[in-house]
Amino acid sequence: MKTKKFLSILAVFALVFATFTSCQSDQSDELLQDEAKINPDVLAKLDAALFDTTNARAMNFMGEEGIAVEDMFFSYVQIDELAPTDPLAKHYRTSNLVKKLPRVITISVDPDLGTLGSDALDVTITMYNNLGLRLSFARVAFGQRGKNKANIEVTEFYELESGGYITLGRAAGFPTRKGDPAKGFGINSRWFELSISPTVNELAGTMAHEIGHCIGFRHTDYQTRQSCGQNVNEGSAGVGAIHINGTPTGSDSSSIMQSCGPAINFNNNDVTALEALY
Ligand SMILES: [Zn+2]
Repeated sequence: MKTKKFLSILAVFALVFATFTSCQSDQSDELLQDEAKINPDVLAKLDAALFDTTNARAMNFMGEEGIAVEDMFFSYVQIDELAPTDPLAKHYRTSNLVKKLPRVITISVDPDLGTLGSDALDVTITMYNNLGLRLSFARVAFGQRGKNKANIEVTEFYELESGGYITLGRAAGFPTRKGDPAKGFGINSRWFELSISPTVNELAGTMAHEIGHCIGFRHTDYQTRQSCGQNVNEGSAGVGAIHINGTPTGSDSSSIMQSCGPAINFNNNDVTALEALY
């Protein structure tokens, strides 16, 4: 089924075109109101960092106030860190990466995501660990505090589709300046209710995508959002978007880091990029 395949990956907005267009009108007013509340300086910083702010929303996510753009969430402090300092062009990774390698990143999943979430995380961990990187992942119990708290927590959120898209996952930013991964990402349990509900491997692909953000990857097609059926030319004055040698500078339709579907596995360029950084 094409629609399902298209959605399977994605992480930012999975297109649900025909299927969900009827749901869009209820949501759009709310989105506009939310967008109107955002300080223009904050939006300008996100724009300057080449995020698609069309559906930017102020929200509380994983315990912090900030702005959701694409399938990312940035606290206001993180947005300040995105501020342009250098007109670097090209694509693929952010300025900050996970440091202190080799390193085992602990990761946990909210039991609210059920067996599906649990099984998918195991698949995702295997996907990464099979690459033999200096960054590997180990599962720990969810909800621990203090030093036992997982480096990356996978939480559950519930958000209706809007404008023909559903946001499958949302990452809490990129690595910190200190070199730790972003603290986690959410998975939209609304997805599980739809006819395009994910298989374990599809959910694992989305988790792998969101982990990609947490460890410093931007969308492969961030300049165009081509994979979402858009062709937004946002110019070339990117910030904190640094090309990785050996990977395409243009769109890469089978990359797991496309804005929208349909990959559920790493392609060769994803592996090249991961090996280059980690
Ligand atoms: Zn993404």
